[in-house]
Amino acid sequence: MPECDVRHRGCRAHSLTMLARILPAKENGMAACPRASTCVLHCAVEPSIIKRVKFASIYSFCRGGQHEGCAVWAKLVNALPVPPNLMPDGTTGDYLDAGADGSSARRFLIIEDSPVFAALASSTIAAHFTGAEIVRRLSYDTAVDDLVHTDFSAIICGFGLGGDRTAHDVRSLTGAPIVVLTGRPDGVKAPHGAQVVQKGAGPEALTSAIRACLA
Ligand code: SF4
Repeated sequence: MPECDVRHRGCRAHSLTMLARILPAKENGMAACPRASTCVLHCAVEPSIIKRVKFASIYSFCRGGQHEGCAVWAKLVNALPVPPNLMPDGTTGDYLDAGADGSSARRFLIIEDSPVFAALASSTIAAHFTGAEIVRRLSYDTAVDDLVHTDFSAIICGFGLGGDRTAHDVRSLTGAPIVVLTGRPDGVKAPHGAQVVQKGAGPEALTSAIRACLA
């Protein structure tokens, strides 16, 4: 579905969002987010009229009294890293300009015990995302430290990740987009929002899935 682009004038949620965006919190009677001054999303969007229009939906969180339901807010109050381009609803936007998050390239984590598929994923990413940083781990257990302490643009992993760990355990540690590589695309229940790619489907399928989850 296309994102609201301020033409949905008959929508009550749209009206409230626009009110919250236009008026300072004191005037619209709703609480402003106390984290706004240190929020990477708010600081990226607020100075740009184009971004304020494009990301108008954030203002129901930032100035509309709903900040406690914001995924970015949840990271900030728990002193957790905010994944690049994380949106209040937990999805990924594209509000960071290249280099705005302190990096000049995207960062990917591959968790895969097959050296062949790990190498294929790695070479595909390197070929399509210039300058990408790629971290490879063999299992969930060896990737936990990365998942907890590093922000990744996307995680590419198998469904089963060693022992009884699965891609759902990865989701529980990070809000980053996930692409699940599996030999049985119809036989796994991937985490919500994850892209699923059949192993052996080829570089184009993996690239398309990564681009889709970064969009
Ligand atoms: S509501 Fe969320 S996006 Fe808005 S300023 Fe607070 S933390 Fe940032």
